[in-house]
Amino acid sequence: MSDLQDLYQELILDHNKSPRNQGKLEDANRQAQGYNPLCGDKLKVYLHVEDGIVKDISFEGSGCAISTASASLMTQSVKGKTIEQVRAMFDSYHQMLTQDSTSESDESSLGKLVVFSGVCQYPARVKCATLAWHTVKAALDDATVQVTTE
Ligand code: ZN
Repeated sequence: MSDLQDLYQELILDHNKSPRNQGKLEDANRQAQGYNPLCGDKLKVYLHVEDGIVKDISFEGSGCAISTASASLMTQSVKGKTIEQVRAMFDSYHQMLTQDSTSESDESSLGKLVVFSGVCQYPARVKCATLAWHTVKAALDDATVQVTTE
């Protein structure tokens, strides 16, 4: 295993052990629930959106290490961004996990999220790593329904 992969794994373990932005967001004006039946990951994402910007975000739920770490890193990446930026990030992230190649510009816009690039080798894990993103996208689309990765 390369040093880079070690570093990635460490970051994922760290975010799983102490997730950032976890808990209910009291002044949320958007929220959505996500469920990945394949693994049993469940989460709820809360957002406070104002003037087209994600002012605050949090999540709660239970799931495997990959889903928890990706939700934690997702909240860090999304906070302070415009809705358009979040949608673009979702697309780049989704592409990174479902396609063999990612363009360099995509990777640079993803920042820390590249730690999940190795997940594309494990198709069953891709749904764990994208659940939080599908859920945040549903919340931004103002969906009140529960989304699943199926
Ligand atoms: Zn999972």
